[in-house]
Amino acid sequence: MIVLRAPRAVVDGVERPAAVLVAGERIEAVLPLDAPAAGREVVLAPDEVLVPGLVDSHVHVNEPGRTEWEGFATATRAAAAGGVTTIVDMPLNSLPPTVDVAALEVKRAAAAGRCAVDVAFWGGAVPGNEHQLRALHDAGTVGVKCFLIDSGVPEFPPLPDPGPALAEIAAFDGLLIAHAEDGALVTAAAGRRYADFVASRPAAAEDSAIGLLLRRARETGARVHVVHLSSASALPLLAAARADGVRVTVETCPHYLALTAEEVPDGDTRFKCCPPVRGDANRDALWRGLADGVIDMVVSDHSPCPPDLKRLDTGDFGAAWGGISSLQLGLPVVWTEARRRGRTLAEVVTWMAARPAALVGLPRKGRIAAGADADLAVVAPDAEFTVGELHHRHPLTPYAGRRLRGAVRRTWLRGAPVDPAVDGAPRGRLLTRGTA
Ligand code: ZN
Repeated sequence: MIVLRAPRAVVDGVERPAAVLVAGERIEAVLPLDAPAAGREVVLAPDEVLVPGLVDSHVHVNEPGRTEWEGFATATRAAAAGGVTTIVDMPLNSLPPTVDVAALEVKRAAAAGRCAVDVAFWGGAVPGNEHQLRALHDAGTVGVKCFLIDSGVPEFPPLPDPGPALAEIAAFDGLLIAHAEDGALVTAAAGRRYADFVASRPAAAEDSAIGLLLRRARETGARVHVVHLSSASALPLLAAARADGVRVTVETCPHYLALTAEEVPDGDTRFKCCPPVRGDANRDALWRGLADGVIDMVVSDHSPCPPDLKRLDTGDFGAAWGGISSLQLGLPVVWTEARRRGRTLAEVVTWMAARPAALVGLPRKGRIAAGADADLAVVAPDAEFTVGELHHRHPLTPYAGRRLRGAVRRTWLRGAPVDPAVDGAPRGRLLTRGTA
């Protein structure tokens, strides 16, 4: 037994003192701080907070097939360094994409034995694979992802309409998550000016695609989730649909909460992602959406590529790969901004652990509670640091050199510490929906 004595811990969405008893891989009990208990004592420092290991339900690992972009070993070590103990891998950018069970098995074989944290998988919905969706669900994927606009890779085409997939998914009460932008409202971007890039992918394109997704969710009764919301003008649509009984959840990402269009230097394609980081007023509105509960969660959309594909030499926002690397930095990036806005660490942990765990159906993850997996992180919320060493395969990130608060000092996966600096005997498991 290990007895973690934490003068500050995030339990059930609030910060309070606690003693957390860990037996093997599970949390045995959560007791008052000074409760008597037999076991090896670990006492947290007064400036540290014990939080549940984060659950990042939006990570592009890209292995197999594009392992030179990222891979299970490097991504999961970055996750561990950032206090993330469960990641959920996206179905695209790997080869093959995870659009049927055979491809899922290829992916699981590539991941087996290589992961420093636990890993679950999304399947993919592409035109013509409706008949694969139930099998992907039965094989333990946590849901399926679709694009409503070009995905950036030819092997994962968009759905012209999510209706047929949702009709199928409703039959087994699955989950469809959607990259919601309307290609009819997006124009080709080129050049170094960031303002031109943002104008090429307007908020209206997101709002239109979200509107279609919500209509189809209403018609079919299926459960949907909007990934990486950038457009705050979609928040009223989402709130109204939910109030009306449509089963929809929403995520946003650290970059939409921490960065603004005004600060992106022209030609600095490290900041390119789709949909784009928008203006400061939009960012304020996204924070209000979180406070109001219209936005449920914050996950990374870690989507790296080899440095040359970012085209930093030309700074051409049209040609550069769209994707921001942040798996290791999500917590401090979000917390630094949250703190400035008077939000609590407990709220941030709810957005980044409990809510994503609930989305993907992993009841033992994302919380400090008796019976949960002993996935834990120690955060020093006031400790300031400069973004330096990153365990991602490529350290290219718009956060390079930033001063952030919220250093992650230690991470435990199922009762044992994880050292992200060591690439030996990784203990991460491959998870299936509902079993962890
Ligand atoms: Zn993504």
